[in-house]
Amino acid sequence: MKKIVLMLIAALLLLSACEISKPHLPSWDVDLTVPLINEHYFVSDLADSINLFVGEDNVLTLIGTGEAESQEFGDVSFNPAAFIDPIYSPANAMKRAMQIIDKFYSELETYKDDIMLCCNYSDIENAVSQGKIAAMLSIEGGEALQGDLGALRNFYRLGVRSICLTWNYRNEIADGVKDEESGGGLTPFGRKLIKEMNSLGMLVDVSHISQKGFWDVIETSSKPIIVSHSNARKICSHPRNLYDDQILAVVKNGGVIGINFYPDFLSDDGKATVKDITKHIEHIVSIAGPDHIGIGADFDGIEKTPDGIDGIENIDTVFEELAKLNYSDEVIGKFASGNFLRLIKNT
Ligand SMILES: [Zn+2]
Repeated sequence: MKKIVLMLIAALLLLSACEISKPHLPSWDVDLTVPLINEHYFVSDLADSINLFVGEDNVLTLIGTGEAESQEFGDVSFNPAAFIDPIYSPANAMKRAMQIIDKFYSELETYKDDIMLCCNYSDIENAVSQGKIAAMLSIEGGEALQGDLGALRNFYRLGVRSICLTWNYRNEIADGVKDEESGGGLTPFGRKLIKEMNSLGMLVDVSHISQKGFWDVIETSSKPIIVSHSNARKICSHPRNLYDDQILAVVKNGGVIGINFYPDFLSDDGKATVKDITKHIEHIVSIAGPDHIGIGADFDGIEKTPDGIDGIENIDTVFEELAKLNYSDEVIGKFASGNFLRLIKNT
């Protein structure tokens, strides 16, 4: 059986941290390694996502103590993200990103036998072939750039490969989802930024952006974008979710939508089971087909989870439910990793 890798994409969040441990790997064969993209992998209230590296229950601690192998935790890729808590904006946003990335690098050094910084697809392949966790760095909250394209290029040099343009609030790039009243989209700097990200080969992430911002990015980006952790508005009316015309626009753009497991984004009553997750997947598939969905679980950014899914260790529940709905192993592999990997490979 080919290896299946869990790809955990993070967009950093501010809610609570989540404990990541011992996922049971799905058993189907897929051509592409790297399933599962989990949003918000590394975030805690005070020290942001990277802090999870050092907690007693976190992935790297498990791996560092040698428990990972026995728990079959291997073959995991993820996208740790530096979440810029609004308390640092605007004056200290870049400093905060630097602190988080510095912490990330020091943890990488500590766990160098287990984890590898990946800056492109072939790095991920190398990490997987060496049995290491692949980590592709991202930032959630473009305020980290403080309006400076030079800062973007330097973050790129540090290994950052995707940026969630905004969190919920306005920054130098665009309005966030909670700024809808003003109707603002991308700023002139935001447009320049998208072009520079396209040219550098960085993934543009529009989760959390305003409606107008979304459409401005669609118009501006020459490369596929990601909506790393958002669901379908038709199934759940939360403003963080996408309208059908937005889903269609992502399809046309060639991008990928990561399904968020936060119950408030899954159902209007804020209660959810695995069936609510598959409901969103089914709806998006009905519009987009199978090539534009990934997993953006958001485990570390949410304070509650669907019934029966406590964390990454239960992720196979989702894939088993999809198998019951007659999704083929090939398609499940696309959701689990193949679609996000395609973008990483082509960006
Ligand atoms: Zn988020």
